[in-house]
Parts: sequence; structure tokens; C-alpha cells
Amino acid sequence: MKLLIVAETDGGRVSEKTLPAIAFAQQKSPDNFTILAIGDNLQGVETLTGYGAQAVLTVNHPALAKPLAERYAPVVAHYAQQLGAEAIVATTTTFSRDLLARVAGLLDAPMLSDIVALESANGKLVAKRPIYSANLIGTFEVEGNPVVMTVRGPAWGKPAPRGESPVQSAEAPANIPTRSEWLSLQGGSGGRPDLTQARVVVSGGRPLKDPETFEKYIGGLADALGGAVGATRAAVDSGIAPNELQVGQTGKTVAPELYIAVAISGSVQHLAGMKDSKVIVAINTDPEAPIFQVADYGLVADLYQVVPELTELLKNSQS
Ligand SMILES: Cc1cc2nc3c(=O)[nH]c(=O)nc-3n(C[C@H](O)[C@H](O)[C@H](O)COP(=O)(O)OP(=O)(O)OC[C@H]3O[C@@H](n4cnc5c(N)ncnc54)[C@H](O)[C@@H]3O)c2cc1C
Repeated sequence: MKLLIVAETDGGRVSEKTLPAIAFAQQKSPDNFTILAIGDNLQGVETLTGYGAQAVLTVNHPALAKPLAERYAPVVAHYAQQLGAEAIVATTTTFSRDLLARVAGLLDAPMLSDIVALESANGKLVAKRPIYSANLIGTFEVEGNPVVMTVRGPAWGKPAPRGESPVQSAEAPANIPTRSEWLSLQGGSGGRPDLTQARVVVSGGRPLKDPETFEKYIGGLADALGGAVGATRAAVDSGIAPNELQVGQTGKTVAPELYIAVAISGSVQHLAGMKDSKVIVAINTDPEAPIFQVADYGLVADLYQVVPELTELLKNSQS
């Protein structure tokens, strides 16, 4: 199967979020995949060249300086057709959800989202993906050429180093649509690691009261561990934490090596976004809280007492 892997970029730099899609390609079509990276004056392309792709195509154009799906989709569709790609693949993220749905529309192609397994049987592709807040795994069959797919990051992991790929500069197709304009990007991780990429995530729930308390306790512990900060939807809805920190069914999916859930009850919607974490630590005053059912280590304690102690101990152990 000939694959076109769409690299995630912010228009200026290639993102590490591309890596699970490359790992997928290495498993499913190791000798027949090309990576496409779109932007303007793109940096970091060399981070894509060590994984055995046939080529890394870069399309640079001033109209592509910001990651607008309306502008990127015709570029992806153009190169998918030109290369004869049988599948167009990206890691499941906000970027790819927005972009690849448009690509599927332009190519009149079927789309599989967030897949965790893929086989082919009798000329059809059979894919598995989590459904109902990741409580069930659904099996889906599609027929078509090409097929558009997003792949769930934690299921495919990181690609293995392979042969070097040539970087080829490719032209942007004519008439890139310019009806939407990029105005601004609000948010950002404030110097901390990206939530979906971090090795350690410390998340806080509703009892953190206000943004200052949240930052002091959750941000402080995350910084002591060099980790990212996450939050529950209840914390976000209460104005305690910004929207982009939400982990769960309607937020981000994370699978760090260590996830620390502070004052989080463990609703199914929250678990949907973090239960693939390798080690889960829960701190909660209620010994019956559902989070303890998925936790590897549980501490029945008041966060206001133990989080400062833990943060202090971690800081001292590093000095
Ligand atoms: C369609 C839908 C989608 C949703 N999507 C998401 C989603 O993406 N992500 C998400 O998180 N939620 C989501 N939710 C909301 C979800 O159902 C829960 O309401 C939410 O996760 C609860 O957040 P919480 O754990 O912060 O708050 P609570 O449920 O109020 O839990 C707070 C916990 O803190 C403990 N606690 C209290 N004080 C302390 C203290 N001093 N020290 C230690 N522990 C303490 C309590 O014992 C309790 O267990 C969604 C809901 C719906 C209906």
C-alpha cells in the first residue's frame, strides 16, 4: 500500500506529533511511504528524514505560513493524486482532524479516524478504533482508493531509526484558496512541554478553586518534574484552568510515562483521555473515588497537604 504521511506543522516548524503516523507507516508499508510537510520557510524537516521514507516532500509558500486547513487541504489532495497514494495518514490531533476531513471531501474518499489497528481482508481495510469514551473498540471496514486515516498516537508510538530519506522541494499548486485568514493563536504551554508529547503530566481537578491555586499546586509539581499540566473539564468549565489543558473525551488524549491525577474523581470521560498512561498516580481525599480503580499508586490525602510536600522533596532531590 502506498502511503502519504502528512506531517503536522504550525506553518513554520515540523511537529513531533508526526512521529506516530510515521511509526504506523513503518509497520504497515515500510518500503512505500512518502512524507509531506507544508508551510513557509519550514524548519525542522531534518527530524523527518531518518525513518526510511522514500522521500520527504516540502511545500513552501507564503500563503501556507499558517496551518489553515482550507489552504493545506488542496496541497495534500494534489500530492496524494500525483503520487498515487492509496492511503493518506496523519496522527490524530486537532490539526489532522480539521485538515484530513477536508482532504477526504476533496478526494471523495472514505475516512477512518483515530485508528489503533489496521488489517486488510478480501480487498477491504479493516480498522479498529476506540468508541464510547474508549470503553469499547469498534471494528470498521472500508473500501476505496484512496482512504484517508488518522491514527491514535499512543497506539503506534515512536518510529524506529531507518535509512535517510531525500528531502525534495515541491511546488504549491496554483490557486490556494484564501477565503479564511489566520488572526491569532491564543494559549500555549507557557514554556512547559506540550501536553500530548510530555513524558510526565500532572493534572488537577475542580477542587483547585481558582487559577492561582491551580498554578501554584499543579504547575509547581509539574515544574518540579519537568512535566506538562493537564486539567479536568470541571476545572476548565469553572475557569480554574485554560481550555487547551483539558484531558479527556472532549479534550486531549495523553499517554505519558507518568500521569499524576490530583483531586480528580476519575469520570469515564476523563479516563478516556489518559488511561493509556504507563504509570498513573492518584491523590484524592475520597478512598472510593473511581480514579483509584485505574491508578497504579494511590494516595488518600488532602492535596493541600501532600502536593507541597512532594514538590519540595522533588526540588530538594534535584539540588
Ligand atoms: C459529554 C461529556 C464530555 C465530557 N468530557 C470530559 C473531558 O474531556 N474531560 C474531563 O475531565 N471531563 C469531561 N466531562 C466531565 C466529567 O463527566 C466529570 O464531570 C469531570 O471529569 C469531573 O472533574 P473533576 O474530577 O475535576 O471533579 P469532581 O468530579 O468534582 O471530582 C473532584 C475530586 O476531588 C476530590 N477532592 C476534593 N477535595 C480534595 C482535596 N483537597 N484533596 C484531594 N482530593 C480532593 C474529591 O474526592 C473528588 O473525587 C465530560 C462530561 C460529559 C457529559
